[in-house]
Order: sequence, then C-alpha cells, then structure tokens
Amino acid sequence: MSILSVNPATEKTLQEFDALSDREIEQKLHDSVDAFARQKSSSFDERKSFMHKAADLLDAESGEWAAIMTAEMGKTLRSAKAEAEKCAWVCRFYADHAEEFLADETVATEATNSFKRYLPLGPVLAVMPWNFPFWQVFRFAAPALMAGNTGLLKHASNVPQSALGIEEIFRRAGFPHAAFQTLLIGSDKVEPILRDHRVRAATLTGSGQAGASVAAIAGKQIKKTVLELGGSDPFIVMPSADLEKAVKVAVTARTQNNGQSCIAAKRFIVHRDVFGEFRDAFVAGFEALKIGDPTADDTDIGPLATADGREDCDQLVKKVLDAGGQRLTGAEIIEGTGYFYRPGILEVPADDAEKFDDEIFGPVSMLFEARNLEQAVHIGNATPFGLGSTIFTNDAAEREYACNELEAGATFVNAMVASHPKLPFGGVKASGYGRELSTEGIREFTNIKTIFVK
Ligand code: NAP
Repeated sequence: MSILSVNPATEKTLQEFDALSDREIEQKLHDSVDAFARQKSSSFDERKSFMHKAADLLDAESGEWAAIMTAEMGKTLRSAKAEAEKCAWVCRFYADHAEEFLADETVATEATNSFKRYLPLGPVLAVMPWNFPFWQVFRFAAPALMAGNTGLLKHASNVPQSALGIEEIFRRAGFPHAAFQTLLIGSDKVEPILRDHRVRAATLTGSGQAGASVAAIAGKQIKKTVLELGGSDPFIVMPSADLEKAVKVAVTARTQNNGQSCIAAKRFIVHRDVFGEFRDAFVAGFEALKIGDPTADDTDIGPLATADGREDCDQLVKKVLDAGGQRLTGAEIIEGTGYFYRPGILEVPADDAEKFDDEIFGPVSMLFEARNLEQAVHIGNATPFGLGSTIFTNDAAEREYACNELEAGATFVNAMVASHPKLPFGGVKASGYGRELSTEGIREFTNIKTIFVK
C-alpha cells in the first residue's frame, strides 16, 4: 500500500511513500520499548533541554515546515507558519513546567509519609488528523515526552511529509533513538498495534467514527484512551455585545484553517433584536474573503484538504437546504483545479434546531435567529457534540447563564475559541473525553501512583 502526499490546490501528487510492512512495525514497537527505558531514566533537565531544542528548530525553520503543511493540506502559508510557532510555544511550555506539574504531592494521612507520584506509562499511540498537521501532534507529544513516555504517531494518510518532519524534529532535538516515531500506516493497522501489550495507551483526534473504533478496541484491552473528536460549536450573539467585533470574530471563527477546525464556530445563534444587522454584516464579511492560492500573502481561504472532504461538505450543505435551510451566500463547489469551496452562510429555522446537528467540516455557517438567551442556549446544546462554545455579551447575568448552561468543554466570552497551552482542552458528549494541554494534559498519560509509608 502506498501513502500519497497530494497538493489540494493543484491536485498534483507531491510524493509517494510505501506503508510500513508488518516487520517494520514490529521493529518500531520493539524500539519504542527500548527507548522508554532510556526516557524513563532520563532527568527532567535532560528532557527539558531536548524539548527546548525542538522548539528552537520549529522557530528557526518555521518557513520550511509551513511550506510542507500548506503543500499537503492547503492551509494558508501564513497560518501554517503561525502553527509551527505555536508548536514551539507548547514545547517550551512543557519543557519549563513538566517537572512542576509532575512533582510529588504530599497528602497528610495517618502514614509517616503519603503522597501522589506521577510516573510515565510507556509507549503511547497517537492517531492524529490532518487539519492542524503539526499542532495536533505537538500538543500530544510535548507533554507525553516530557512525562517520560515514548510516542508512536499514526498520522492521517494525506500528511506523510508532515508526519516524517515531526519525527525528524524530535530526533534532531536529541531525544533518544525511537523516543518519538512516525508509523506510515493505513488505519487498518491501528487495531493490531492497539492490541499489542507493549502499547500502553492511545489518544485519537479525529472523527467520532474513528474515535469509537479506537476506544472499543482499547477498551477490550483495558487501555486508557483520550479522545478529541468533532464539534459543532455554537456562537451566540446578544444585543449587549459589541456587534462589529462579534461579526469580525465570527467570520474568522468559521473560516480559519479553510473552515476545517474542530473548534470552529459552526452554528451562529443571534438574538432577534440584532439579527438583521448581524446577518447583513456577516454575509458581507464572507463575501469579502479572498479565496485562492494558499501560498499567496493576501489569501484568506485555500482549498479543502481532500476531494472526499469537499464532497462530504457539499452533501451536508444539500441536506441542510433540503431540511428547510436557505442559502444567503456561497456554500458551493468552485469548479476547476483544486478542491476549492466557496465560504457560505445558510439561514436555518430556529424551531427545528435539532434537525441541523451535523458537523459541517468546511467553511459553511448555519445561522439561527433566537427569541431570547434561553432559546439560544437550547439551540446551542441541540447537537450530539460539546467541544467549544462562544457568547458575545456585555451582560454579567447572561455571561454566567451561558457559562453554566452551555454543554461544552469550553466557553469563550467575547472571544474566539482557541487552544492555549496553559488551559485544558477537550470536550463532553460526542466530542470525546480526557483533556489535552495544561496540567491535566500531561497527567493523562501517567500512572498516578499512591505511595504510603508507615
Ligand atoms: P478521521 O477520518 O477520523 O481521521 C483522523 C485519524 O484517524 C487519521 O489518522 C485516520 O487515518 C485515522 N482513522 C480513521 N478511521 C480510523 C479507524 N477506523 N481506526 C483507526 N484510525 C482511524 O478524521 P478526519 O475526517 O480526517 O478529521 C476531521 C474530524 O476530526 C472532524 O470531526 C473534526 O472535528 C475532528 N477533529 C477534532 C479535534 C479535537 O481536538 N477535538 C481536532 C481536529 C479535528 P487515515 O487518514 O489513514 O484514515
């Protein structure tokens, strides 16, 4: 089987790789166990210096890594460079804080000494998506390696160059041989690897279908998993909000990364008192976006990452239109070379919110008019997902209500949902479980051991 790197803007095949054979996979699992012995016995200071070096490489070579990301999955070069820099940030964050996050914690009991100790687990399998081809991996790898684990990356099949680049960064940073390895494999090879006793835990970022499969296999083996799955985040706008700012953030929140972000706001729920004004400015904001070559400085939106992804997006748009949605602008395939899709807005009836609960993974907004905050939050919660959520309001009571009632792993007030190394990231409901980033993220793949000394 071969794994292809295809440029979605030109449809040209850039490189072709052979998938690993079973023997090669076996060797990598073996090496991962060996590397774990070295990782486990290394000091925080050693790992810290490697992780800082990884950050320095990412910063110094951000242009080169960005070019690979853009070529493989179509995000704008500008955003790809920012992604490489954000990866450097998370590496430095965990390099500097891992020791403190994983320090022994004394708990007074009847023992002479009793405390919690955070020990690494061993090889951890990371199944990752293509949409942020570096960031998704680094936000797992930086804490996992700093905790003393080893990483095995099964990246999405359309970003093999990114996957190999990440392995190269950790190798050049000085981590022990095989501390972080990329497995160029299809998803059919995930099951036997997950079943292997040497793999101690797994994390998957991707669709619900893939997450359910990985969780079921890992569950049978009694293995810990963290799942970061889809989202259809609500973005609520109340009359007290700064409307101009809300519109500006709304356009970016939906169209960042060419509309392919799990935490993109996907459903815009606007109070009826400001609905008309918001709708007109939102449509104007979408129509002003420049679509085209993702390597050009002034491009806002590049192509979708794959032909199949564009087709799925278009099918979901048709489903919304068939169910009573109305097209305000865009939301259609742009014919020609490249997997381009015109950013669009679909107005949908608020009383039927439950009918519009799919995640559209492309630059398409669903827009609802709400009678009041209670209805807005009800619409916000009317999906199986619960990843991020946003409310624009300057009313303290409204803010509190939304923060308590929105079923999501995060609520951002007057700001766009974004991941931050210092804050936990993850979802509830069908958006998954477990947390990445912050203290919680580094502790996910540790044995929280109780030590009791009489
Ligand atoms: P996907 O199809 O689930 O792919 C993600 C990864 O899972 C890829 O490495 C894929 O490998 C692998 N995979 C697919 N099916 C599998 C299976 N049955 N068993 C094991 N591995 C499997 O996801 P996608 O469509 O590329 O990505 C979009 C989805 O990811 C959206 O729902 C988005 O919201 C979600 N996402 C969530 C987060 C988050 O943090 N919560 C972040 C980004 C994206 P192949 O490429 O080889 O198929």
